[in-house]
Amino acid sequence: MLLFNTSDSLSFFSQTKTCPYCHHDDYRLQNQSRFLRFSIVPMLPLAWHYQYQCSHCQHNVQLSIMQLPWLEKLSLIKYFIGSILLIWLSIYFYTQHLDELKAKQAILSQPQAFDTYLVHADKFSNEPLRPENLKVAQVLEFDDQNITFQISNYRYKRDSGITMAMRTSLLIQKDYFSSKTITLPRSEVQRLYEDGAIYDVLRPYAYSLYGGFVMFPPRPKPLYEGLKLNKNNQQGIIYYKDGLFPEAFESFLLASKEGSQWGQLNTAQMYRDGEGVEKDISQAIYWYQQAAGQNNHKAKVQLKELCLKHAC
Ligand SMILES: [Zn+2]
Repeated sequence: MLLFNTSDSLSFFSQTKTCPYCHHDDYRLQNQSRFLRFSIVPMLPLAWHYQYQCSHCQHNVQLSIMQLPWLEKLSLIKYFIGSILLIWLSIYFYTQHLDELKAKQAILSQPQAFDTYLVHADKFSNEPLRPENLKVAQVLEFDDQNITFQISNYRYKRDSGITMAMRTSLLIQKDYFSSKTITLPRSEVQRLYEDGAIYDVLRPYAYSLYGGFVMFPPRPKPLYEGLKLNKNNQQGIIYYKDGLFPEAFESFLLASKEGSQWGQLNTAQMYRDGEGVEKDISQAIYWYQQAAGQNNHKAKVQLKELCLKHAC
């Protein structure tokens, strides 16, 4: 919506003077300049038109820009506000664009697993050209020379289809990617990017892109490997809490012989402390070693402590 408009001088700058002809105090600076505006924002001046006019005798004198009062001269910048804004915005978006290109180049030259490339399937993976020519390629692994991708089984006509697939976490579905992989030299990947065969490069942030999951979050690791609840050990814990130490010891010993590292740890502790059984350090050490042999961290720590006081 570009509009031409004329403007009246701001009242602040139009001081009233005495008319040199009729001597009435109705002599004012008027501004009837025309300017180009975008909506209400002035873009460019089209024609300056300043004059002194007496509203009493109608006498008027035109003024050139140079003859304007200095405050009025200073205010001429208002006609360029829109253009200044436009230039500033252009520079802003251009630098944004440059930063984005830089970021993409950085992703290309320092790949990470699950980097997501949007590609033209005909050029990237030599597939027959179809209207649905867009595909997703994800970095599986890489070394100094090559990058290995998995390629989506799905094809898209438009970029929006891919964005939608990401938003709906489709990329983490089992059959989304083909099991066949493509390994390309890094220089070839760079060339494909420059040729536009790779038309976008994205790096998932916290497993997701566009709000959807595009990589598998790692599974939480069990606290101790091979941790299995052993019935006898659980029963022993109940006895122990009830203060039934001999019964607890029997249960822990059963669990230990079944190979439960937690049962072995508990048995060792009871031998060490003489709870529910006669104190027997060598037995304690034996069961600690069994549990530690199964990589039980607690057993390792307690065994180490015990071994400071006793020969192991
Ligand atoms: Zn006058």
